[in-house]
Amino acid sequence: MDCDIAIIGGGIHGVGVAQAAAVRGYKTILLEQYDHLAEGTSSRSSKLIHGGLRYLEQFEFSLVRECLLERSYLLKNAPDLVKLTPVYIPIYKNSKRPPWMIRAGLSLYALLGNLSCDARFKKISKAKWNKLHGLSQENLLAVYQYYEAQTDDRLLTQAVMSSAQEYGAELLLNATVTKIKLGKNRSTITYVNELRQNQILTSKVTINAAGPWVTKVLDCVQPKQKNINVDLVQGTHIILPLRLGGVIFYIESPHDKRPIFVMPWYGETMVGTTESIFEGDPSLTYPHEIEIEYLLDAFTFHFPKYENEKLKVSEKFSGLRVLPKNEKNSNQRSREVIYLRDCHKNPRILSIFGGKLTSYRATAQHVISYIEESLPKEKAKLETKKIKLSKAGEIFN
Ligand SMILES: Cc1cc2nc3c(=O)[nH]c(=O)nc-3n(C[C@H](O)[C@H](O)[C@H](O)COP(=O)(O)OP(=O)(O)OC[C@H]3O[C@@H](n4cnc5c(N)ncnc54)[C@H](O)[C@@H]3O)c2cc1C
Repeated sequence: MDCDIAIIGGGIHGVGVAQAAAVRGYKTILLEQYDHLAEGTSSRSSKLIHGGLRYLEQFEFSLVRECLLERSYLLKNAPDLVKLTPVYIPIYKNSKRPPWMIRAGLSLYALLGNLSCDARFKKISKAKWNKLHGLSQENLLAVYQYYEAQTDDRLLTQAVMSSAQEYGAELLLNATVTKIKLGKNRSTITYVNELRQNQILTSKVTINAAGPWVTKVLDCVQPKQKNINVDLVQGTHIILPLRLGGVIFYIESPHDKRPIFVMPWYGETMVGTTESIFEGDPSLTYPHEIEIEYLLDAFTFHFPKYENEKLKVSEKFSGLRVLPKNEKNSNQRSREVIYLRDCHKNPRILSIFGGKLTSYRATAQHVISYIEESLPKEKAKLETKKIKLSKAGEIFN
């Protein structure tokens, strides 16, 4: 088998690149180690297609702009999969940020979103606080409301792959890549199929979109390539069998003031996330008791009417972020994607480090622009920002 672009990883980045490559007319093959897509981080996220309000504190204005733009494309192109949802930010006497700071951040956010309806915010009057589904009012100073969008990350990943396949991309499931031998014009990729047999394919360019396995895949490359020192940061979510009015609350943990989302999720409520350094095999991540307690504490602190109820967690899951190693705590590290190539001119392999569900399409466009020199000239059939996505099977609500 031979192709222009071989992509390793069937998460949102892999399928995003597959779509962008196929629409350009490149012969594209995606290899995924599991027997289905999105088994890694792309089904374990907070499921928000978000503008990244929080990144304003790190002055990452271009990232916020990009996220807001991508959100607007997804709302237009995937209305069955991406839904605008109101978010409430309560600010208490002991909150990390005072009301003026939240107001300033939201104002800047609205400006970066060109003051469109879905980027604007409002202050909720005190008279309406008792309609906020039992939100604690003790020491409450102000409540602001703005919008984020929610999706089902697994369904979104499947939908993007279906679209890539419509443009001719091929998907190989149960295909674990074990070796990549870079050649002058072609690289040879060895993978193990479901029958545990070694198979080979050749490609002009290889994209390593293996998410938390990215460094492991890069270590399989011959000749040996430079790697990046990263941390895998585990984030856990829990799902509680209760409804909070179909809106999102953006709260703070009473323990360490970290931001936590409380979100509607298929008729229940999802709470997340945590952050702790993970070491080991990414397929073995699981939610720890201490993380579940931390999330339950944050939830009942803000919704005290559930304090004395024995809250049963109906589901829990953990995912891993890939963040460059540095001295900052994981919450403050840049969320910009790092693209690592074997060489800048005519790269043969490109690895994607980090990134966000929200901006997968923009990431895929960047990838194509970095590798197109190594490929035959092809003209895009359509811009990916105009491609409609529809859900495969299940309904997201
Ligand atoms: C807790 C948490 C919450 C998040 N919340 C949000 C959010 O709300 N909004 C947002 O925009 N972003 C969010 N993110 C970020 C976002 O989820 C990730 O950036 C994104 O899902 C990563 O996708 P990926 O394709 O790079 O990796 P993955 O989804 O992990 O995909 C990598 C794939 O590669 C495959 N693979 C690995 N090795 C091999 C191999 N050798 N051969 C073949 N296949 C292989 C894996 O099986 C996997 O399917 C969150 C991340 C975390 C951890």
